[in-house]
Amino acid sequence: MYTPNTVNKLECIGHVQKRVGSHLRKLKKSVKGLGGKGKLTDNFIDKLQNYYGIAIRSNTKNLANMQSAVIAAFYHCCSSTKKPMHGQCPTGTDSWCKFQKAKALGKIFTAKAPGLPQNILNIVKPHYFKLCDQKLLEKFLLGLTQNANESFNGVLWNTVPKQNFVELQSLKLGAYI
Ligand SMILES: [Zn+2]
Repeated sequence: MYTPNTVNKLECIGHVQKRVGSHLRKLKKSVKGLGGKGKLTDNFIDKLQNYYGIAIRSNTKNLANMQSAVIAAFYHCCSSTKKPMHGQCPTGTDSWCKFQKAKALGKIFTAKAPGLPQNILNIVKPHYFKLCDQKLLEKFLLGLTQNANESFNGVLWNTVPKQNFVELQSLKLGAYI
Protein backbone atom coordinates (compact mmCIF):
# COMPACT_ATOMS: atom_id res chain seq x y z
CA MET A 1 0.00 0.00 0.00
CA TYR A 2 1.40 3.37 -1.00
CA THR A 3 1.24 6.08 1.61
CA PRO A 4 2.30 9.66 0.71
CA ASN A 5 5.57 8.92 2.47
CA THR A 6 6.21 5.93 0.23
CA VAL A 7 5.53 8.01 -2.88
CA ASN A 8 8.05 10.62 -1.70
CA LYS A 9 10.64 7.96 -1.17
CA LEU A 10 10.09 6.54 -4.63
CA GLU A 11 10.58 10.02 -6.07
CA CYS A 12 13.76 10.34 -4.03
CA ILE A 13 15.09 7.13 -5.58
CA GLY A 14 14.59 8.71 -9.00
CA HIS A 15 16.60 11.75 -7.89
CA VAL A 16 19.51 9.85 -6.40
CA GLN A 17 19.56 7.58 -9.43
CA LYS A 18 20.00 10.66 -11.64
CA ARG A 19 22.72 11.85 -9.27
CA VAL A 20 24.72 8.71 -10.09
CA GLY A 21 24.49 9.69 -13.75
CA SER A 22 25.37 13.36 -13.31
CA HIS A 23 28.23 12.53 -10.93
CA LEU A 24 29.81 10.08 -13.38
CA ARG A 25 29.30 12.39 -16.36
CA LYS A 26 31.15 15.12 -14.46
CA LEU A 27 33.92 12.66 -13.62
CA LYS A 28 34.20 11.67 -17.27
CA LYS A 29 34.68 15.31 -18.25
CA SER A 30 37.21 16.06 -15.52
CA VAL A 31 39.50 13.02 -15.91
CA LYS A 32 41.42 12.90 -19.17
CA GLY A 33 41.17 9.60 -21.05
CA LEU A 34 38.27 8.30 -18.97
CA GLY A 35 35.63 8.67 -21.68
CA GLY A 36 35.69 7.30 -25.20
CA LYS A 37 34.87 4.08 -26.99
CA GLY A 38 35.18 0.98 -24.82
CA LYS A 39 35.63 3.15 -21.73
CA LEU A 40 33.24 5.24 -19.63
CA THR A 41 30.59 6.11 -22.24
CA ASP A 42 27.22 7.83 -21.78
CA ASN A 43 25.60 4.50 -22.61
CA PHE A 44 27.48 2.84 -19.80
CA ILE A 45 26.56 5.61 -17.36
CA ASP A 46 22.87 5.37 -18.32
CA LYS A 47 22.94 1.63 -17.81
CA LEU A 48 24.67 1.85 -14.45
CA GLN A 49 22.24 4.52 -13.30
CA ASN A 50 19.29 2.29 -14.26
CA TYR A 51 20.66 -0.75 -12.47
CA TYR A 52 21.39 1.36 -9.40
CA GLY A 53 17.69 2.30 -9.34
CA ILE A 54 16.57 -1.30 -9.85
CA ALA A 55 18.87 -2.46 -7.04
CA ILE A 56 17.36 0.06 -4.60
CA ARG A 57 13.76 -0.54 -5.64
CA SER A 58 14.05 -4.31 -5.28
CA ASN A 59 15.52 -4.06 -1.76
CA THR A 60 13.51 -1.44 0.08
CA LYS A 61 13.05 -3.61 3.19
CA ASN A 62 16.62 -4.16 4.21
CA LEU A 63 19.58 -1.81 4.17
CA ALA A 64 22.34 -4.44 3.98
CA ASN A 65 20.62 -6.15 1.06
CA MET A 66 20.14 -2.79 -0.63
CA GLN A 67 23.81 -1.92 -0.30
CA SER A 68 24.89 -5.36 -1.55
CA ALA A 69 22.58 -4.95 -4.52
CA VAL A 70 23.88 -1.53 -5.59
CA ILE A 71 27.43 -2.87 -5.34
CA ALA A 72 26.40 -5.96 -7.34
CA ALA A 73 24.88 -3.62 -9.94
CA PHE A 74 28.26 -1.94 -10.41
CA TYR A 75 30.15 -5.18 -11.04
CA HIS A 76 27.29 -6.42 -13.20
CA CYS A 77 27.54 -3.37 -15.48
CA CYS A 78 31.34 -3.56 -15.63
CA SER A 79 31.17 -7.21 -16.73
CA SER A 80 31.95 -8.45 -20.20
CA THR A 81 31.87 -11.92 -21.76
CA LYS A 82 35.61 -12.19 -21.17
CA LYS A 83 35.37 -10.98 -17.60
CA PRO A 84 32.00 -11.76 -15.98
CA MET A 85 31.56 -10.37 -12.46
CA HIS A 86 28.10 -11.57 -11.52
CA GLY A 87 28.99 -13.37 -8.29
CA GLN A 88 26.93 -10.92 -6.25
CA CYS A 89 23.99 -10.59 -8.65
CA PRO A 90 20.69 -12.19 -7.59
CA THR A 91 20.40 -15.77 -8.82
CA GLY A 92 17.41 -17.62 -10.24
CA THR A 93 15.19 -17.42 -13.28
CA ASP A 94 13.54 -14.15 -12.23
CA SER A 95 16.83 -12.32 -11.66
CA TRP A 96 17.38 -8.91 -13.29
CA CYS A 97 20.83 -10.25 -14.11
CA LYS A 98 20.74 -11.90 -17.54
CA PHE A 99 23.90 -13.84 -16.74
CA GLN A 100 22.40 -15.41 -13.60
CA LYS A 101 19.06 -15.91 -15.31
CA ALA A 102 20.71 -17.79 -18.19
CA LYS A 103 22.71 -19.82 -15.68
CA ALA A 104 19.55 -20.81 -13.81
CA LEU A 105 18.02 -21.93 -17.11
CA GLY A 106 21.13 -23.94 -17.96
CA LYS A 107 22.07 -21.60 -20.79
CA ILE A 108 25.20 -19.62 -21.49
CA PHE A 109 24.89 -15.87 -21.61
CA THR A 110 26.94 -13.88 -24.06
CA ALA A 111 27.26 -10.24 -23.06
CA LYS A 112 26.70 -7.69 -25.80
CA ALA A 113 27.96 -4.83 -23.64
CA PRO A 114 31.74 -4.30 -23.57
CA GLY A 115 31.84 -3.72 -19.81
CA LEU A 116 34.58 -1.56 -18.37
CA PRO A 117 38.37 -2.12 -18.62
CA GLN A 118 40.01 -2.75 -15.23
CA ASN A 119 41.99 0.52 -15.16
CA ILE A 120 38.83 2.54 -15.86
CA LEU A 121 36.86 0.46 -13.34
CA ASN A 122 39.44 1.30 -10.68
CA ILE A 123 38.98 5.04 -11.27
CA VAL A 124 35.18 4.94 -11.34
CA LYS A 125 34.72 2.56 -8.38
CA PRO A 126 35.47 4.92 -5.45
CA HIS A 127 33.17 7.57 -6.95
CA TYR A 128 30.32 5.14 -7.44
CA PHE A 129 30.84 3.56 -4.01
CA LYS A 130 30.34 6.96 -2.38
CA LEU A 131 26.78 6.69 -3.66
CA CYS A 132 26.45 3.24 -2.04
CA ASP A 133 26.87 4.63 1.46
CA GLN A 134 24.39 3.22 4.00
CA LYS A 135 23.65 6.73 5.31
CA LEU A 136 22.48 7.71 1.86
CA LEU A 137 20.65 4.47 1.13
CA GLU A 138 18.78 4.22 4.44
CA LYS A 139 16.45 7.00 3.27
CA PHE A 140 14.94 4.57 0.80
CA LEU A 141 13.93 1.91 3.28
CA LEU A 142 10.19 1.38 3.31
CA GLY A 143 8.00 -0.13 5.95
CA LEU A 144 10.58 -0.48 8.72
CA THR A 145 11.45 2.07 11.32
CA GLN A 146 15.11 2.93 11.67
CA ASN A 147 15.41 1.12 15.01
CA ALA A 148 13.71 -2.01 13.78
CA ASN A 149 16.04 -2.02 10.85
CA GLU A 150 19.14 -1.51 12.94
CA SER A 151 18.31 -4.38 15.23
CA PHE A 152 17.47 -6.52 12.24
CA ASN A 153 20.89 -5.79 10.79
CA GLY A 154 22.46 -6.53 14.16
CA VAL A 155 20.90 -9.98 14.08
CA LEU A 156 21.89 -10.44 10.46
CA TRP A 157 25.54 -9.59 11.00
CA ASN A 158 25.75 -11.92 13.96
CA THR A 159 24.65 -14.79 11.77
CA VAL A 160 26.64 -13.90 8.65
CA PRO A 161 30.28 -12.88 9.01
CA LYS A 162 30.64 -9.28 7.91
CA GLN A 163 32.85 -9.12 4.86
CA ASN A 164 33.52 -6.41 2.38
CA PHE A 165 31.17 -8.02 -0.07
CA VAL A 166 28.74 -10.53 1.24
CA GLU A 167 27.58 -12.92 -1.40
CA LEU A 168 23.91 -12.25 -1.88
CA GLN A 169 23.19 -15.94 -1.46
CA SER A 170 24.72 -16.26 1.98
CA LEU A 171 23.13 -12.98 2.99
CA LYS A 172 19.71 -14.31 2.02
CA LEU A 173 20.44 -17.48 3.96
CA GLY A 174 21.44 -15.41 6.99
CA ALA A 175 18.26 -13.36 6.76
CA TYR A 176 16.27 -16.57 6.49
CA ILE A 177 17.87 -18.07 9.58
ZN1 LIG B 1 24.90 -9.75 -13.18
